[in-house]
Amino acid sequence: MREIFLWAELSMNATAFPASDAAENTERVGAVARVKLTEIFLSIQGESNTVGWPTVFVRLTGCPLRCQYCDTAYAFQGGEWFTIDLVLERVAAHGVRHVCVTGGEPLAQKNCLPLLTALCDTGYQVSLETSGAIDVGSVDSRVSRVVDVKTPGSGEVHRNRLNDLALLRSDEQIKFVICSREDFDWSRDLVLGRELHKQCTVLFSPSFQQVEARDLAQWIIDEHLPVRFQVQLHKYLWGDTPGR
Ligand code: SF4
Repeated sequence: MREIFLWAELSMNATAFPASDAAENTERVGAVARVKLTEIFLSIQGESNTVGWPTVFVRLTGCPLRCQYCDTAYAFQGGEWFTIDLVLERVAAHGVRHVCVTGGEPLAQKNCLPLLTALCDTGYQVSLETSGAIDVGSVDSRVSRVVDVKTPGSGEVHRNRLNDLALLRSDEQIKFVICSREDFDWSRDLVLGRELHKQCTVLFSPSFQQVEARDLAQWIIDEHLPVRFQVQLHKYLWGDTPGR
């Protein structure tokens, strides 16, 4: 990965934009839009409607939230600036059809929007994983949005923009990470109260090592809840290893 970053630095005049420079005004060099990246890697999609597909993950740096279960805290800081063209080059090198833009919170960077459009223009099947705390209304309509609803157990429930969920198309997804039975009850009430299951697919996932997957599955069965159970497949394959 460091090799990639060195290439990026050489392509972007690294002396003017050192790796530690996260200032807002470095998001553009002349007319060239850039994004700050933690990593680009090929793996198996572990969640959502495209679970199982070989997928290139483009992980943007930074997140304004601090969910207690976060498994990508290494993306909060650091990273390297990439032009959008360079991101496209790196994605193309992996030779697969599915691309997932994730974070951190990718929409915290304004150039995430043109990046998503550029990926769609290139012909990829593009998904976006986002926290539900930032407006998703300006995202390219060809992108499949996977929007979190933060439960009380996450510690970030006050960040939810619940009214934005009405923007989602039927082929998109709303995701709850369940940290406890109390979280499950809260999430159930929200889904049924707002009829989110009629909006699009609702995913319930156990918080890794906080709720037993079989317990969550049983709660869903017992309540005949119209949601889709999922586990984070990549965690079962590779544990908490970054870049997998
Ligand atoms: S929104 Fe995602 S990246 Fe940000 S703290 Fe929560 S889990 Fe981590």
